[in-house]
Amino acid sequence: MAVMTSPGVKVPGDYIESVMISVKAKNPAEPEFHQAVAEVFDSLRLVLAKHPEYQSARLLERIVEPERVLMFRVPWFDDQGNIQVNRGFRIEMNSAIGPYKGGLRFHPSVNLGILKFLAFEQVFKNSLTTLPMGGGKGGSDFDPKGKSDNEVMRFCQSFMTELQRHIGPDTDVPAGDIGVGGREIGFLFGQYKRLRNEFTGVLTGKGLGWGGSLIRPEATGYGCVYFAAEMLKSKKDSFDGKLCLVSGSGNVSQYTVEKLLDLGAKPVTVSDSNGVIYDPDGIDREKLAFIIELKNVKRGRIRDYADHYKKAIFMPTDIKLEHNPLWNIKADCAFPSATQNEITARDAANLVKNGIKLVAEGANMPSTFDATKMFLDAKILYGPAKAANAGGVATSGLEMSQNSARLTWTREEVDDRLHKIMIAIHQNCFETAEKYGTPGNLVNGANIGGFLKVANAMLDQGLV
Ligand code: NDP
Repeated sequence: MAVMTSPGVKVPGDYIESVMISVKAKNPAEPEFHQAVAEVFDSLRLVLAKHPEYQSARLLERIVEPERVLMFRVPWFDDQGNIQVNRGFRIEMNSAIGPYKGGLRFHPSVNLGILKFLAFEQVFKNSLTTLPMGGGKGGSDFDPKGKSDNEVMRFCQSFMTELQRHIGPDTDVPAGDIGVGGREIGFLFGQYKRLRNEFTGVLTGKGLGWGGSLIRPEATGYGCVYFAAEMLKSKKDSFDGKLCLVSGSGNVSQYTVEKLLDLGAKPVTVSDSNGVIYDPDGIDREKLAFIIELKNVKRGRIRDYADHYKKAIFMPTDIKLEHNPLWNIKADCAFPSATQNEITARDAANLVKNGIKLVAEGANMPSTFDATKMFLDAKILYGPAKAANAGGVATSGLEMSQNSARLTWTREEVDDRLHKIMIAIHQNCFETAEKYGTPGNLVNGANIGGFLKVANAMLDQGLV
């Protein structure tokens, strides 16, 4: 039901072009946001040609505009008694199909544009999960690295003192992301509960003893590998014996490695912002346990892996290089699981040259626009982030359901639901790509599949 029309309807290409020009003019110096919008718009040409009602309702102009942007001061005392000041954000992007939902990122690179790109992606990703969740994202330029537990706690308490005014179990439900794991969610939840005097499912990724869901820590990595297994299945292939490249060594990477081992693959790399580990013998369960202890408990650097396992090679990050040596190692499958734009056009060319068969994105927007085009042109199996890494937020949705029903599902039950959701997301993307005349192009499948549900809800709900 379209409730409004706009004069001067243009052909879809011109309409998209004019909205893109306005996005760049209205949001200057936000290249990641422009990139995320341009990628989605590229797929939507196919939809607008069939559905002029979206243009009449000026859906594109509306969907790129956050419903609300919050930006606030976060003052805190460090261990020496000095005052520190960081900037906090929450982007409430779209609530057409459910409360805002999306993670909090604590990293020095965080700025408004990065969080807007993440919130925009989240809208389509959450729609693909089949669960009723809108899209949001937030965080701070606070760097938890090198901070004591007490400093992290004081920062989280100050951050939540402002954020609590704007969130709630039926309004906005944040979760973790880079730099925000179980420790930070605990401190944030504690302060919310203290200020609001209520014990509710306001955050996901909570501890198991106080409202968390089994499998939530594992969900993004497991989900990404389940999605990739479906991609291989579409070519009658499997993970058995496949050599796999994984970047990062945080939450997503750790459980990607674990599920790859479960399915018979051989992961050979991990990394952090200081460098890459290449272990030609493969990262087995004992080595994975070492990584988890190193990263989650000791909060150390990945180079320690090569000190411990002598056959492994450590390659330090060289910012002068325009490519990452990790993506130049010959393998069958690649799982970028660290951060945005970590695969440049040169990296993509290296992967394709070395015969990569599959790329499944655990991180958000890890491939540049040109890298994405190269994967599509090379016709390899390419699973874009908003589909491949949706298992994390899907399991957050399952945590919300358990909190509302005051129930706890078993590990097997949550894992089974996660697995079925990832199969359904792959099927939706695969079939949508075919329906719109681009078979095998899961980028189009994910963008269009995610868009349609949100756009139709926006039409139904009128001009809000
Ligand atoms: P973590 O903080 O647990 O781990 C991040 C990893 O990536 C670390 O190894 C980190 O290295 C590395 N990294 C971060 N920034 C950079 C950078 N600029 N350059 C090089 N390496 C970097 O985060 P997650 O595993 O949770 O998140 C990883 C990615 O997955 C992000 O893109 C996130 O948005 C995405 N994601 C996460 C979900 C989740 O459930 N956690 C859900 C969906 C997507 P170092 O330790 O040196 O910083």
